[in-house]
Amino acid sequence: MNTHTVKAFGTEAPEADLKQISIERREVNAKDVEIDILYCGVCHSDIHTARNEWPGTIYPNVPGHEIVGRITKVGSGVTKFKAGDLAAVGCMVDSCRECESCKEGLEQYCENGMTGTYNAPDKHLGIQTFGGYSERVVVDEDFVLRVPENLDLAAAAPLLCAGITTYSPLRHWKVGPGKKVGIVGIGGLGHMGVKLAKAMGAHVVVITTSASKTEDAKRLGADEVILSNDEEQMKRNAGTLHFILDCVSAQHDINAYLRLLKRDGQLTLVGAPEEPLPVAPFSLIPGRKSFSGSMIGGIAETQEMLDFCGRHNITSDIELIAIQDINKAYERMLKGDVKYRFVIDMASLKNEL
Ligand code: NAP
Ligand code: ZN
Ligand code: ZN
Repeated sequence: MNTHTVKAFGTEAPEADLKQISIERREVNAKDVEIDILYCGVCHSDIHTARNEWPGTIYPNVPGHEIVGRITKVGSGVTKFKAGDLAAVGCMVDSCRECESCKEGLEQYCENGMTGTYNAPDKHLGIQTFGGYSERVVVDEDFVLRVPENLDLAAAAPLLCAGITTYSPLRHWKVGPGKKVGIVGIGGLGHMGVKLAKAMGAHVVVITTSASKTEDAKRLGADEVILSNDEEQMKRNAGTLHFILDCVSAQHDINAYLRLLKRDGQLTLVGAPEEPLPVAPFSLIPGRKSFSGSMIGGIAETQEMLDFCGRHNITSDIELIAIQDINKAYERMLKGDVKYRFVIDMASLKNEL
């Protein structure tokens, strides 16, 4: 298969910094579009993967799955896009399209394994897929999204992962008016969860370890804020929430959060720390409570989320960085020091030699 070389930022080993590398992209096939990447959001999953925290990283690894850019080329069979269009790509670039989940529009749960935007087997080139910390990407048009025109492009990039990952479970568990919803961990995912749950009409309660985020939480849409390291506040709010979305990237005691649920309440994990989170049986049994997980969202639902954000004028609160600052950005994310998503201005990579 014909390929061409593009510049990227990636890592060669779990402990190594990210640096400039070269990767190959395929030439467009009939159904492909080629996208010149303008902005790419920085997700905590990028760090987990670059550092092999969820074992299975194939090196070199080029992270990045919150991609927006402009289409430069389309294949002969492409019907939905043309050169010059703005386009976006999230966490998936393909799936089997035949299994029950794919047929239901739940490609993220493809029973034959969806193709992740990075660190997944590339069906075309036979190596691992490379993500959005790169100049260009080539993707089947069925996995390409449209960004509503009224949204700022850089601030819309994080919708492609942080947005859909919080939107999908909020919709699935029918969050809306009359529901009291807790969002745990106000980072990239959590701050989108607050904005989206508020726009869906819920009463939103932020649960954070950072007292310094209280004012921001209210500005983002929270009706109440609970400091999770204040035992008295946690006790006072026990049994008050219908639904909790846990967006925490590191180890934490899940039982402390399950106590906040009402009878029949649901706590859903989207945060994915590398170690197990032990659940005490009596955190669930007395209140008939449920503990579950959720992964990104399907392609149709991702477009639905983008259109919802367009109508409600919702984007991410971002700090725009040059790609040369990516290693510093990772360190700041690990300290919870990001307000509330780093987005890479990809012009900084084009300017590299
Ligand atoms: P992030 O921006 O780094 O935010 C994580 C937040 O978790 C922090 O800002 C902090 O919020 C809180 N936190 C950190 N350490 C904590 C601790 N020890 N105890 C309690 N809270 C703590 O990360 P992100 O990009 O939003 O990603 C969050 C997690 O979701 C990651 O594990 C990521 O891999 C995962 N993820 C999952 C999916 C999926 O499909 N399920 C998709 C994308 C990402 P406070 O300061 O408010 O406490
Ligand atoms: Zn992500
Ligand atoms: Zn499938």
